[in-house]
Amino acid sequence: MTTDPDALRDLLRAGGVVALTGAGLSTESGIPDYRGPDGNRRFQPMTAQELLADPVARQRYWARSYVGWPRFAAARPNPGHVALAQLQRAGALGPIITQNVDGLHQSAGADRVAELHGSLTHVVCMHCGERYRRETVDEWLTLANPDFDRSAEGPLRPDGDVAIADELISRFHIVHCIICGSDLLKPDVVMFGESVAKDLVAQCFSYVENASSLLVLGSSLAVMSGYRFVRRAARLGIPVAIVTHGWTRATDDEVSVRVDAPLGATLTALAADLARAPG
Ligand SMILES: [Zn+2]
Repeated sequence: MTTDPDALRDLLRAGGVVALTGAGLSTESGIPDYRGPDGNRRFQPMTAQELLADPVARQRYWARSYVGWPRFAAARPNPGHVALAQLQRAGALGPIITQNVDGLHQSAGADRVAELHGSLTHVVCMHCGERYRRETVDEWLTLANPDFDRSAEGPLRPDGDVAIADELISRFHIVHCIICGSDLLKPDVVMFGESVAKDLVAQCFSYVENASSLLVLGSSLAVMSGYRFVRRAARLGIPVAIVTHGWTRATDDEVSVRVDAPLGATLTALAADLARAPG
């Protein structure tokens, strides 16, 4: 195990790298992480079971999400996202498996992005399965809540929502699926208490099994949905490198490179380095 950042350059020069990215990559875009550097969760997210079982929970979810959406939608790719897209175009990096739901890899021009936890850019009706663009649902919410003040103060939270006063929430009107009339609308993300679709997991395992190395960026690997890829790579003898701040679940047996450094600057330097001296 090494902590030398130059080891990252060697992996990328060898090519065939698969990236696994987490919330730490998007913090420089203004989207906060669930966990601090100590690995402890700072927010308690709503579970899918709560959302679907309870109309009051749906009112709370959509009111908070309505306030947070303009800020979440305004987030732009940071230098880390841009550098990864460059590394893909240069042929050093293959598929990106992301735990993030912000779509910022694609906004930066990356392709072959597997969104392990879905994306907040879409909403799905849990009754009939119809999928809507989030912008469309946002327009419905605005029509249903013409007097609602969505400029409420407060920090944006990792799920794209803002904690607002109960009094505001109680006046919020949720909207219905225009196909079936159900109000069981859910962001098209894997919420806590749900699991990732099996075919997507299989696809990501196949990316990892065919990789020359696995590069973990901005993830503590606290949830098994990401950690299992590190375990698979380690078992197959595929080198695993991690760049993130603070604690990670991966053990030194599983990791050959561990770098604690800001992602934007680190990835930008790596992409520039490879552009100067390809191969
Ligand atoms: Zn429906």
